[in-house]
Amino acid sequence: MKIICIGRNYTEHARELNNPLPAEPVFFMKPDTSILKNNKPFFLPDFSNEIHHEVELVIKICKVGKSIAEKFAHRYYDEIGIGIDFTARDLQAKAKEKGLPWEIAKGFEGSAPLGKFLSKKSFASLQSIHFHLDINEKTVQTGTSADMIFSFDRIVSYVSQFFPLKTGDLIYTGTPAGVGPVHTGDYLKAYIEDQCLLECKIK
Ligand code: ZN
Repeated sequence: MKIICIGRNYTEHARELNNPLPAEPVFFMKPDTSILKNNKPFFLPDFSNEIHHEVELVIKICKVGKSIAEKFAHRYYDEIGIGIDFTARDLQAKAKEKGLPWEIAKGFEGSAPLGKFLSKKSFASLQSIHFHLDINEKTVQTGTSADMIFSFDRIVSYVSQFFPLKTGDLIYTGTPAGVGPVHTGDYLKAYIEDQCLLECKIK
């Protein structure tokens, strides 16, 4: 099982980090040891002083496929959930400066909290899924799939040209604006519409 994450998929977020808007999806991967399930706590790593939250819609791949045409891509994922792409922003900034890969800033243990999934059928439209992240009962990020630069179908099609997709693979589809640091004692809750699907305490 692999975890693919899309970067810069929301215009306002790309702007807040002074990144150019991509012409094609930008993606990177996290190892399976980054997954944090069942609302388990996240332990801040000692190699970073700046762990940022990035709340993201996550799609779960339900069928093996490669080089999937965009018009058939919807057949390859059947559930949508919510997750957090924890990012060591200080390490990422250093890597970016030197033109080096981001893995250590993105793939550390517990860096991918994952909530409950909803059937795709439960959504009236995949083009207007609202989601948000609260920290200590205050909303810090809100997003809607309507604002994604690249749709779920485009992402599945694009990624599968390079990496065949397998059942159970996860794709984190990018974060909207409002990213920021988490601190010891923070309590995170992530929602799709008004349903809380993920909780995570920072330790
Ligand atoms: Zn992200």
